[in-house]
Amino acid sequence: MMNITDPIYHNEDQARQHLETLRWGEDNQNIFCAHCGCTEKVKATKMMSKPSKKNPEPKPVEGYYHCGDCRKRFTVRTNTIYERSHISLHKWVLATQLLCASKKGMSSHQLHRMVGVTYKTAWFMSHRIREAMGITYDEMMGGEGENVQADETYFGQKDVIVKRTKYGRPSHSSKMSVVSLVNKGKARTFHVDTANIETIKDLLNKNVSKASELHTDESRLYTQVGQEFAEHKTVKHSAGEFVRDGAHVNNAENYFSVFKRGMRGVYQKCSERHLQRYLNEFDFRYNTRELDDFSRSIQAHKQAEGKRLTYKRVKEKV
Ligand SMILES: [Zn+2]
Repeated sequence: MMNITDPIYHNEDQARQHLETLRWGEDNQNIFCAHCGCTEKVKATKMMSKPSKKNPEPKPVEGYYHCGDCRKRFTVRTNTIYERSHISLHKWVLATQLLCASKKGMSSHQLHRMVGVTYKTAWFMSHRIREAMGITYDEMMGGEGENVQADETYFGQKDVIVKRTKYGRPSHSSKMSVVSLVNKGKARTFHVDTANIETIKDLLNKNVSKASELHTDESRLYTQVGQEFAEHKTVKHSAGEFVRDGAHVNNAENYFSVFKRGMRGVYQKCSERHLQRYLNEFDFRYNTRELDDFSRSIQAHKQAEGKRLTYKRVKEKV
């Protein structure tokens, strides 16, 4: 469980060792080169700190390793979301813990106050952590004898508003569209440009096994693609129905309600180009809800590898 007095949240060496253990095992037993993956010719290397006004005497710095194969140097930050940031590792560990422990997320304002970094830094950190929380799925959901719920919702405001109703109110097409797929209590949620027959068909094709039983509401968006599945069961929400013939989309709806409460209560504003990252965060928390907060943060750190944001994306306007 999380204990805020744990030195990993305050002490740089302890934080580094914590991340090293997660990545390379106890005492770095399974260390591998963060550049080429070599496991054999890796050795700790002595580095000295650069003299500064505060510390004019150079001191040895721990945490650098050298690979005899590719002849490159690396640290536990290399090839992770923590690379190329001057933010202390203990702040990364604390920020990750806080984001993992808050049910509806944590705003950059609050993170900035609690971690002791500027608002702008807190904003970058939280977006990088969301990047770590995201998963590239290579397995299909469902299969024979399994149910997959699919549901869509509309939220916030698109960056470019396309259309309004004749009364001037935003129509669905001016809101951002989100589609969620739930199978065995796990959700995959996607921001789509517009939720229509084509985009939903495409998402289902890419993510859901056709041997599954598809559960949706009566929306016409699912009628055609539903025929491609082993079975397609629908509930008629317009008739006040929530379960029919064992079919429901309650899990997807619960997911949306947590997501919307979090977005309204905590994040308040979210531009369309960042929406998928917020969805990653909510998927991550939903899918790891059986874990305690500390184990959830360990999972996030483990997923931090291979997800370094490129320069261009980091430069996005705040
Ligand atoms: Zn190497």
